Amino acid sequence: MKQWPYSYVLIASRNKGKLKQFSDLFREFHLEVKGLDQFPDLPDVEEDQDTFEGNARKKAETISRLIGGPVISDDSGLVIPALGGEPGVYSARYAGINATDEMNNQKLISEIRSVPKAKRQGYYICVMALAIPGRETQLVVGKCHGEILTEPRGNQGFGYDPIFYIPEEKKTMAELSDERRYQISHRAKATKQLLTLLRQEYVLTRR
Ligand code: IMP
Repeated sequence: MKQWPYSYVLIASRNKGKLKQFSDLFREFHLEVKGLDQFPDLPDVEEDQDTFEGNARKKAETISRLIGGPVISDDSGLVIPALGGEPGVYSARYAGINATDEMNNQKLISEIRSVPKAKRQGYYICVMALAIPGRETQLVVGKCHGEILTEPRGNQGFGYDPIFYIPEEKKTMAELSDERRYQISHRAKATKQLLTLLRQEYVLTRR
């Protein structure tokens, strides 16, 4: 096993919720979790690749090279096979560059109406990349399966959550508690895999 050679890991995000989740998860390793707000001089990395893997890898590797340290990045979205994989990597801007969640949801509702009810399944996907200088970048993937509704339900969460129905939960993602959403989400699954990978590959000594 390799020794983890740093006292910190940078999460390539300014999202406070994401940073808090990672800080909690890494507490057992006494690893300091830093966010992009602690590196104000870093440029924004454009998510211009046509795959989630490409975007996650690009962000982690670019920033890791710039800071000379370990970086975790993620890219996520919603994939509907019956719509040719849309909204996919364009999930945030499905209805246009400055689209709101509401606008994206309305566009998806109008597209999904042309799909037979039995084929309205989709999944959220989250790809996380871990880039460490001098080492091969590692990727993990988490998915969460559901069905697309034509009537929004619930007001928790964000993005497509009000029209993303999870049959096992009998609720949309936007009707779930934060706690439950955190247990079953694509992001939670990817994060757990990343932690497993870190535990298997590295000796994370307590400081
Ligand atoms: P990003 O990973 O922050 O780039 O997310 C891209 C887009 O995917 C978001 O703006 C949302 O539209 C969608 N998305 C990703 N994860 C979720 C989720 O957990 N709930 C709802 N929408 C999501």
